[in-house]
Amino acid sequence: MTPGEKLTSLLLRNALGFFGTVVSSRLSILIFHRVHAVPDPLFPFEPDAQRFESLMRFVAATFRVMTLGEAIDHLVRDTLPPRSLVITFDDGYADNAEVALPILQHLGLRATFFISTGFLDGGRMWNDSVIECVRASLKETIDLAAYGLERLSLRTIDDRRRCIDVFLPRIKYLPLQDRLEAVLDLQRICGVGDLPTTLMMSSDQVRSMHRAGNEIGAHTVNHPILKAISAEEVECEIRDGRSALESIIDAPVNVFAYPNGKLGQDYDASHVDIVRRLGFRGAVSTEPGVGRASDDLFQLPRFTPWGRSIPVWGGRLALNQTNVGFDVAS
Ligand SMILES: [Zn+2]
Repeated sequence: MTPGEKLTSLLLRNALGFFGTVVSSRLSILIFHRVHAVPDPLFPFEPDAQRFESLMRFVAATFRVMTLGEAIDHLVRDTLPPRSLVITFDDGYADNAEVALPILQHLGLRATFFISTGFLDGGRMWNDSVIECVRASLKETIDLAAYGLERLSLRTIDDRRRCIDVFLPRIKYLPLQDRLEAVLDLQRICGVGDLPTTLMMSSDQVRSMHRAGNEIGAHTVNHPILKAISAEEVECEIRDGRSALESIIDAPVNVFAYPNGKLGQDYDASHVDIVRRLGFRGAVSTEPGVGRASDDLFQLPRFTPWGRSIPVWGGRLALNQTNVGFDVAS
């Protein structure tokens, strides 16, 4: 860390330590998806290895990092120590095992990985199919009038990013089969052949991450929007995803993350009941906030700050932990 980052870490450690002595302790849960080996020009704000290592060095120096299961134990007993933090990853990207894991291990950190089992061993999530179609297309423009969009340019990286940004929301909430057909249609429109098959983890990678002391959590089989499918389908998705993971790691899977994770939009109270009834110990949403002992352990919020500089990123994380309702400027 730079001297400025070290100072920020020291100040935040002291401030959060003091804060923890005057109010009940709070839990920050970070959420990551991909950690690219090198920066992805299409997604310059997603972390790459170098950026992730800087963030994790700061986290290791400032917070007490634990798995979600360990944090839930503390919340149940109301013994959460000050500066508690959980690092989570959603979906099961191979770069979590190949890029993030060595960094975490080097820093002595453990994390919780929520994995959708339907994409393991060569599968691909629908949103990545969209991204890879647009990335690989040799066309200068594509016609998406069938989706209520104008003819879109693919001439520059920014054009391609805009195309992804407008197309994904158009098909995100379609029924699963319609969405898959829309992706195949896009592949045809973009004139792209084979798409990558190494984006997601292998079962062996899941097993070795668990053996390295990390926690594996359930995230359904096919990553559906739970509100868009029937209660029976929701139960199958959650139960089957969990049992597939349990047979891979040969250990119980006790925690769950709701796909997409926005209450009311992606899941509702009936889905929380299903997760509880299936015997999980807790679950996380993507609602921002901080976890407390008094919270519903089946809807713990998660929050990942933004900002290029570590002091700004760490400041936002500390503000979230103290639940202060104002922001710091970038
Ligand atoms: Zn997800």
